[in-house]
Order: sequence, then structure tokens, then C-alpha cells
Amino acid sequence: MTAHAAARAGSRSLGGARRPRLTVDVAPGIHQLEHGFVNSYLVTEGDSVTLVDTGLPTTWPHLVAALGHLGRQVGDIHAVVLTHAHFDHLGVADRLRRQGTPVWLHPGDRKIARHPYRYAHERARLAYPLAYPAARPLLAGMARAGALWVRGVEATVDLATSGEVDVPGRPSVVFSPGHTDGHTALHFPGRGALLSGDALVTLDPYTGGRGPQIVAGAATADSEQALASLRALAATDAALVLPGHGTVWRQGIASAVERALATGAH
Ligand SMILES: [Zn+2]
Ligand SMILES: [Zn+2]
Repeated sequence: MTAHAAARAGSRSLGGARRPRLTVDVAPGIHQLEHGFVNSYLVTEGDSVTLVDTGLPTTWPHLVAALGHLGRQVGDIHAVVLTHAHFDHLGVADRLRRQGTPVWLHPGDRKIARHPYRYAHERARLAYPLAYPAARPLLAGMARAGALWVRGVEATVDLATSGEVDVPGRPSVVFSPGHTDGHTALHFPGRGALLSGDALVTLDPYTGGRGPQIVAGAATADSEQALASLRALAATDAALVLPGHGTVWRQGIASAVERALATGAH
């Protein structure tokens, strides 16, 4: 089933973990597309769309279907904003850039964007599937969605470390380094929503762990800094937390941060 068909059926979940899922209006005018255990968000303002994070390479047809369901098309994506440049958020970014869509990214992540598999991480990546069996189906699902053949992208516009971004939806940046050097969450104050990227997730693909937490050292450059950055997320006081992996957290950012701090680094 395509994301389009799923949304038409009014289904929040397709059941199968590998299938894409479109959830319309997770927050007002913000739509979540989940594919291969990775979330992208379509933010609408009038006819225009900002795509926040771009999934994996095979996310493309599901993105097109999701746009169709929302009554829009690829040309309506006026901006791509990347929370960070890890391969699992970069999937179709270059494809959109080549069609003329500006790609926003904090300059701290430019290098990773060019070389999506060369990123700093504290711990050996290969050790995790052995130590955390729950992670195996997640990593396999990401691989099936194209995680091993992501193209790099040359970002076209720099995200600042504070202020509003001049894209549809006009989010405020929440600079939140640690997961990567340039990680930036996006706050939509008028919509009560914080797109937390991988600064705070509710599903860690490297451990299979669920609930609010930072991502494991397998994919995090500096866990201590990532934990410190949670303060910046909490300062938004957002009611809804829309993470890069896992389900939406509806109990407010303060309680999500509290739990993530209690869980700590792993
Ligand atoms: Zn990441
Ligand atoms: Zn990720």
C-alpha cells in the first residue's frame, strides 16, 4: 500500500514495519511520512511545502504519493530543511536540489552532507546489532529502503544558529549540536510543535530502544554535548515533539527531555 492509499484509508499505521505511513496533521499543517524507520515532515503553508528531512532513497515514490494526498506536487516543495546530514535523512535531498529546490543545512554538517557515510561517532557501529538484537530488524529495514546507497548533497543555504528560517511555515531554529556538530531542531511556535530531528528521538535505530532519548553512541558524535543540548529543546516548551525516529510525543518537550536525561547516553 502506498502512503497515499494509507492516508485515504485514514489509517495511522499500516501494521507492517517496512511500509510507509503518512500521518496527516500530526500538528496543524505538519504531516509525518515514516518510511524505513525514518521520519520526514511535510510542512504546509498555503500551497507551499517545506520538507524537513528527506528519508531514504526509496522514500521518493512515497513522498510523491504523500504530496498527492495533500493536494500538492513535487514542485510545491519550496524548501528542504535538513536537521542534520546523516545518510538516513538525506535520501532524496540531492534529487530535489537538482530540480532547483534550495537545501538548508547548518554549515557544521556540510562535510557529512557531501560524504554521508563519513561521520563522527563515539562507538563502533557494528557492535550494536550484536549487543542489541532489537535493533537488527530496524537496521535491516533501513538497508532495504536504500540506506547503503545514499547520495551526498551540496547544501545550498546555511541555517543560522538562531532566528527564523525564511521557508514555508517559518520555523525558528533550535541549534542542538552533539548528535552531529551542526544539528538543528525546528520549532513552529504557532503550531505548538518541535521537530527534534535526532537530537531527541522516541526510537533509537541502533538499540531498538523506545521512549524519549538521545541516539546511541553508534551514531552520535558527542553524547555529553547531545545531553546538554536538550536544554535548548526544553526551552521551546513545545507541546508536541516530532522526532526523526519513532512516534510523536504528545506530553510536551519538558517531560521528553526529563526522560531522555534519565536514560542518558548508551
Ligand atoms: Zn542522525
Ligand atoms: Zn537518523
